[in-house]
Amino acid sequence: MAGRKVYALDTRAFLSVQLEPGPAELITVQEVVDEVLYGGLAPERLATALARQVVKLKKPSQSSVERVKVAAASTGDLPRLSKADVNLLAAAFDAFSEGASVVVLSDDYSLQNTALKLGLEVAGLARQPVKELREWISKCVVCGKVYGRAVGDVCPSCGGEVVRYVRASEGR
Ligand SMILES: [Zn+2]
Repeated sequence: MAGRKVYALDTRAFLSVQLEPGPAELITVQEVVDEVLYGGLAPERLATALARQVVKLKKPSQSSVERVKVAAASTGDLPRLSKADVNLLAAAFDAFSEGASVVVLSDDYSLQNTALKLGLEVAGLARQPVKELREWISKCVVCGKVYGRAVGDVCPSCGGEVVRYVRASEGR
């Protein structure tokens, strides 16, 4: 029997991943569903996925909730976790305790950090094209000339000091 693979989705995950039936099990918790529905983020998409049982709602065990809180407290992440976050991690930990390989899908740093502390895998949601657009650029502080890539510490144009920084992607 192949290993059971479970993906635990947080609120943002519902905006970023394809909710299609596949070999992996997709799970979430009621509090995440509430956030998606009340937030008006992707209610139709989520409702459809739940109705088709592409995503399964899990109610976490109390022991896993406690375990998550202890783990999050030890890493200092607890104050930054919502109830939805804690319950999602607890549901993920339940599946993990049953022997499943669990990946938590989230871009939330505290959630990811706590998941790792619990022995779960994590995967971010940032889309690949956005990452590819992020790049180093260099700018001369004297003449202001911008270079598309690193040119060293000295401006080839005027000999001024060049500062290197990451140009944040604007998503297109
Ligand atoms: Zn210059």
